[in-house]
Amino acid sequence: MSIGSTVFRSTNLKAEPVSFEQALLKGIAPDGGLYMPVDIPRFTSDEILSFSSAPYYEIAFAVGKKFFGGEIPDAELMRIVKDAYNYEVPLEKVYDNKFVMRLDRGPTASFKDFAARMMGRLMHYFLKRRSGKLVILTATSGDTGSAIANAFYGLDNIEVVVLFPEKEVTARQRKQMTTLGKNVRILALNGKFDDCQALVKRAFADPELDYMNLSSANSINIGRLIPQTVYYFYGFAKLRDGKPDDDVIFSVPSGNFGDLCGGLIAKRMGLPVKKFVVATNENDEFPNFVDSGNYEKLEPSRNCISSAMNVGHPSNIPRLVALFGGNMDEKGDIHKQPDMDALRKDIYSVSIDDKETEKTISDAWEKHRLLLEPHGSVGWAGLQHYIENSDVAPGQLCVSLETAHPAKFPDKIREILSFDPELPPSLEGLDEKIEMFGNLNHDYDEFKLWLKEKFR
Ligand SMILES: *Cc1c(COP(=O)(O)O)cnc(C)c1O
Repeated sequence: MSIGSTVFRSTNLKAEPVSFEQALLKGIAPDGGLYMPVDIPRFTSDEILSFSSAPYYEIAFAVGKKFFGGEIPDAELMRIVKDAYNYEVPLEKVYDNKFVMRLDRGPTASFKDFAARMMGRLMHYFLKRRSGKLVILTATSGDTGSAIANAFYGLDNIEVVVLFPEKEVTARQRKQMTTLGKNVRILALNGKFDDCQALVKRAFADPELDYMNLSSANSINIGRLIPQTVYYFYGFAKLRDGKPDDDVIFSVPSGNFGDLCGGLIAKRMGLPVKKFVVATNENDEFPNFVDSGNYEKLEPSRNCISSAMNVGHPSNIPRLVALFGGNMDEKGDIHKQPDMDALRKDIYSVSIDDKETEKTISDAWEKHRLLLEPHGSVGWAGLQHYIENSDVAPGQLCVSLETAHPAKFPDKIREILSFDPELPPSLEGLDEKIEMFGNLNHDYDEFKLWLKEKFR
């Protein structure tokens, strides 16, 4: 293996190992598994130290170079990271050494921008080189669709189709997708999120659509995961106080566990993370797994106010299991138990119900003037649980991730805090823009016909 050319292997272990470019453009492995790096590259502590004075994009460059620097020229990678990360990453002090990292300043105001913008640009680069074209097909319950649509907007060799459940996304979420146009096509489905997902899955498996080169952009793509290691390095580098044995606790509000997998990989790359607090909403299959060692997915998933985390069987769980030496297939069956002691050493997991999520939004504002939305509130509440139930030293650096902007959830904030959160520039003017989208019944033949007409 040469430097900067990581090999990726499927978690199901039955497919050929591939390069980063292949893993990125394929999405899912042919055996149904998820691609993971065979060897995780490491940073020296001096390299991590040097990030303290680096802008965000330079850390993204360093991470990209470690994983796939052998597949893309430096100048090209630098151009991509500078273009993708042109917004702020605020670190807000709450009390003592406890911080919230706001990952909500991208164009669609959720942390999904970090991954989507990098993945879109990388796909565009690799496709151009092989004169290829792709159609990205995505089902969304809200944030993914808008992040993907914005990230791929205007890329000349990629077409985007997003399916969303007509009645399950907020007006603001819908407008973030439907006001773009160009290469972005949006379909409102008369059905539920699961129905959208089912249509998309069928299209991927349909040989008659092979000629279109359909690809997926959801969090199973390794191209989304690697960019999600970067903000962990960034948060630590900016907040560490310089002692050689510095370390950090991160709290991660989790749904499909892509965010968390980014953090776990960052730790394997050398980042001194003492603990990950993995906070879920009432979908508590993972905290139960950490407790008991038995994994049982939840079907159907539970509806909570942190809607982007309403996941009963997180798609990245096989990756997490693989990181701890185990093996799990895409259905959630464990073929080899991971090292649960090692897992519990790195991870503390807790489920936060809606009542506590709301109370935390209220308390955080009253006590600290900290404005949280439901997802970040689950993370912050999880961190408080951990601090109360373990011997965390008073000055310990802790960083809780805020994964969306409060202005994406104006009704909830108004209900709890009685004011309207200020709109970030990215969401301004959205209400007046013109929407364009098609309507679709939950009918595969109708969907297929539509695809074949659009992409001949
Ligand atoms: C997607 C999402 C999450 C969950 O992230 P995962 O990587 O799926 O665990 C949390 N918060 C917000 C706002 C999201 O959009």
